Amino acid sequence: MGMDEAAVRYTNAVLIDDEQQTHLGDFLLHSDGSWAASKGDEDVVQNLDGSKKLITRSFQNWHTHLPMQLNARDFSDGLPLQEWLEKSIFPTEMNLTKEYARIGALASAVEMIKTGSTFACDMYHFPEAIVSALNEAGVRGIICGPQTQWPPREGGDDGSVRKELDSQLASNRPENKVQYGVATHAVYTCDEDTLLGGKELAEKHDAHLSIHISETRKEVADCFKQTGMYPVEYLDSIDYFIPDKTICAHGSWVKKSEMRTMAARKTILAHCPSSNMKLACGGTASLPAYKQAGVEVRLGTDGPASSGSGLDMAHEARMSCLVQRHDHWDASALLAKEAFAMATTGSQDWAVWNLNDIRMSPYGKDNERHISNLIYNGGQCLDLWVDGIPLMQSGKVTTIDEDKLLETFNDAVDQYYSL
Ligand SMILES: [Zn+2]
Repeated sequence: MGMDEAAVRYTNAVLIDDEQQTHLGDFLLHSDGSWAASKGDEDVVQNLDGSKKLITRSFQNWHTHLPMQLNARDFSDGLPLQEWLEKSIFPTEMNLTKEYARIGALASAVEMIKTGSTFACDMYHFPEAIVSALNEAGVRGIICGPQTQWPPREGGDDGSVRKELDSQLASNRPENKVQYGVATHAVYTCDEDTLLGGKELAEKHDAHLSIHISETRKEVADCFKQTGMYPVEYLDSIDYFIPDKTICAHGSWVKKSEMRTMAARKTILAHCPSSNMKLACGGTASLPAYKQAGVEVRLGTDGPASSGSGLDMAHEARMSCLVQRHDHWDASALLAKEAFAMATTGSQDWAVWNLNDIRMSPYGKDNERHISNLIYNGGQCLDLWVDGIPLMQSGKVTTIDEDKLLETFNDAVDQYYSL
């Protein structure tokens, strides 16, 4: 067996494994994402003091619009979804350029790193700018680009955007940390040709396909008026879903029969509770019902503008626990440990949290309270590892100059809004 030369060792740490078992002692974190107890004599690239530190899998964010950090939080606060899109977001996005998208995505990548996330499934314009930002930051992603040029002015006509996405998708390699995918925004913004054109492109390249589904009652009512079907029924009737590859965001206003269809088509649901509440959608995905139907559910923050709470996945997991219990009148509807599992599904990366922090105490005599503390109370991520590469150490982002970026980002936002 060959020696893993890129392993790092943490001594005297707490580690929570994939089964949420807690281990105490000295650990090797290998560059392939696996871990082992350390005997103390292995060759390592770094030997780190792990005392008062908690090692967990990193968060995975399954629904984002990373460049929308440009429109984050105060922007159009108070508008419901449809008005927010039509009066605020779409007109502003007319001025979006590749460079603004890159700067917004970089700012989001920094926020992801600081809050312990190493993966985003994104949907936005100028996917190549987002891919470049994530590569620079060192985080993983599936970046789904639209196949139509809408709404930014920059970028040419529909045909050229589709051709460009086609060649971007052709550049996907299994070893790339960031992959291209295809976005079809929603049934109320894409006609049948656009939806199926997106599917065709994704299938051609064995790529992911992403869509917003049944986010509001209006979307469902409008779809029913036009097609006589609910959104999932309509999409299934045109044979839209690609098994294991389709990511449906929200799924808030969905019938149980539609959930069974989603399970049969092996779609992945991205539950985005903060966004649903901030935009007053009046409901969010019913996790007990999805579970019963057998749908794979993951967690997403949605865009930093729509969630109102940025890209902090511990925060999002807490929101999910609260809204599931509130909606179902059931205090056991989603436990912190279940929310943590949902928020870290499939992670091969490691986040190291500060236990020398009142928010993470008390941790219990058997170290049994760490996950609940992290989810309910938040914590400070100190180190973040992807493929043996540190994206942050001791709370300092190592891949991007954060101070410089903050300046560039604030200047860019000022310019963007004065256009
Ligand atoms: Zn979204």
